[in-house]
Amino acid sequence: TTLKVTPSDTQSKTSELGNDVSSLSWDNLGFDHVPTDYMFVMKCCGGDKFSDGELKTFGEIELNPFSSVLNYGQGIIENMKAYKKDDGSILLFRPEANALRMTMGADRMCMPAPTFDQFLEAVKVTVSANRRWIPPPNKGFLHIRPLLIGSGPVLILTPSPEFTFLIYVTPVRNYFESGVEPINLVVEKEAHRAVPGGVGSIKAIGNYAMIVKAQAAAKANGFHGVLYLDAVHNKYLEEVSAANIFVVKDKTICTPALRGTILPGITRESVIDIARNLRFQVEEGRVSVEELFNADEVFCTGTAVGLLPVGSITYQGKRLSYKNGGLGTVSQKLSSELTNMQMGLTDDKMGWNMVL
Ligand code: PLP
Repeated sequence: TTLKVTPSDTQSKTSELGNDVSSLSWDNLGFDHVPTDYMFVMKCCGGDKFSDGELKTFGEIELNPFSSVLNYGQGIIENMKAYKKDDGSILLFRPEANALRMTMGADRMCMPAPTFDQFLEAVKVTVSANRRWIPPPNKGFLHIRPLLIGSGPVLILTPSPEFTFLIYVTPVRNYFESGVEPINLVVEKEAHRAVPGGVGSIKAIGNYAMIVKAQAAAKANGFHGVLYLDAVHNKYLEEVSAANIFVVKDKTICTPALRGTILPGITRESVIDIARNLRFQVEEGRVSVEELFNADEVFCTGTAVGLLPVGSITYQGKRLSYKNGGLGTVSQKLSSELTNMQMGLTDDKMGWNMVL
């Protein structure tokens, strides 16, 4: 069913929908997909312009089996989050940055992208329409997933004749259920996430399927995640499967520079700005795996996880542990600055929050 809804009249219409928000226990939210009320759908059928999109009841989509996304992986994703404040307002964190990153990714994958305004409007409309699915303050956030795919049929490898832009959302708990818990990583020496000239710097969907195997093996061995090294020297830190990495020594914070193989994380950029405002020295450059040996603290950043301290890193069978079980003062300071800002608990000095 297609429902033309504007954010203002969703409240009455949502009661007609099938998914039951009252059966959700906000105290027992997981980190999983829960079907919500609406998804946003917009198409580009020839040329490079997307026509006006619309909200549809959340549900399955039809795809031609020959579609370029299914056969050749022509697709990119974004991920964003929305918090609900005590006063009922909704905060989106730096949505403009996601719009921009999707445009860059689309260009690399030879796809037209929604305009900046179309992207932002679509996010706002989708989040507002699903407002009742946003967890109350401190219970979690609404995970927002924009997806751009080649939805038209192709046989030989050519750009798709049709593209579809979708946004769907799901409520998730805060990553940390009971206080901040550091994670344990393992350095991957055999497989690489990205190569120079490849698509590591965009959120191409294929970047994720191919790391599931290493991730599963790491989990089976008791680790939370995999830390990747550069594919040329097998020596410099790149990033964790879906998060950027930072290494702290004394008052200096180092993070791998963006050289085309690392995703320019929006949380990464925000943490760099926050740290510099707090007068930390932040260096973006090559960070050798050797630097993990005498680091004071290590942490990673991403939309879903926020700022996640690392308790240990296992490299070539040797386990390197960080002070205080990984709960370092620098990580804790930056983590609370970031989350307070994202949840609207402090002044938005940087102008990062969009309020709905
Ligand atoms: N690196 C990869 C490969 C990712 O998929 C993500 C998640 O989007 C990140 C880093 C962190 O980026 P952001 O802070 O924009 O969520």
